[in-house]
Amino acid sequence: MRICVLASGSKGNAAYVEGGGVRLLIDAGLSCRDLERRLAAVGASPDGLDAILVTHEHEDHVRGLDRFAARHGAPVFANEGTAAVVERQCRLSGREAPPFTLFESRVPFALGGLTVTPVRISHDTAEPVAYTLDDGAARLGYFTDLGFVSDEVAAALAACDALVLESNHDLEMLRHSGRPYPLVARIAGESGHLSNDQACEAVARCAAPTLRALVLAHLSEECNQPGVARACMARALKARGLSPALAVAEQSSPLPFLEL
Ligand SMILES: [Zn+2]
Ligand SMILES: [Zn+2]
Repeated sequence: MRICVLASGSKGNAAYVEGGGVRLLIDAGLSCRDLERRLAAVGASPDGLDAILVTHEHEDHVRGLDRFAARHGAPVFANEGTAAVVERQCRLSGREAPPFTLFESRVPFALGGLTVTPVRISHDTAEPVAYTLDDGAARLGYFTDLGFVSDEVAAALAACDALVLESNHDLEMLRHSGRPYPLVARIAGESGHLSNDQACEAVARCAAPTLRALVLAHLSEECNQPGVARACMARALKARGLSPALAVAEQSSPLPFLEL
């Protein structure tokens, strides 16, 4: 299995995964054209994808979903809660919603040789999920847009050999960002985003001894710095005696492929 984080952050999220004989996207939060460009930049075809797995209906996760899915014939997978809201969003803006293949949160399903498990997370949307993908040899977790690390999330994290994990903000930078209080409270709250400290604490508490790779994701451009997030996580990993490959996902360009 291998993954390429095409884009990560509040302006758009998408990751491309190959494994178990299938090719898929997790989220399609860039415009159709940007998705095509970034896939081309990493040598992946936009055609013939086996799935687009949707985490939740926020614009930065579904911006190009309908257009890209229609243009390239990609099947779109979501739970009922997310699908219903995306359908409504499309209807309200006069666009055609993609046909959805529905799954149930918490119920693993097969996609070729991959086992996909949608993990329920806490975020301010209808039915948000994170995903784990298992090809029988390795398990990859994709955890962004979560307000806190629930027991369910902790258990799922602990079983992963590689993680894409939200490290959204530095709490002090967020508090001093000059943003209105309700927005600060939303981001830092239990239905918002994981701070650097929360991400570090989760890894220190739950990461598997076999963790081989960790990608910090969904960094706030205003309330975080890649160096700050990375240094925080490096300390947490060292304290736990882990030394996975550590990378920080970017908004503006794809990361290199991570091979598992
Ligand atoms: Zn997001
Ligand atoms: Zn979100």
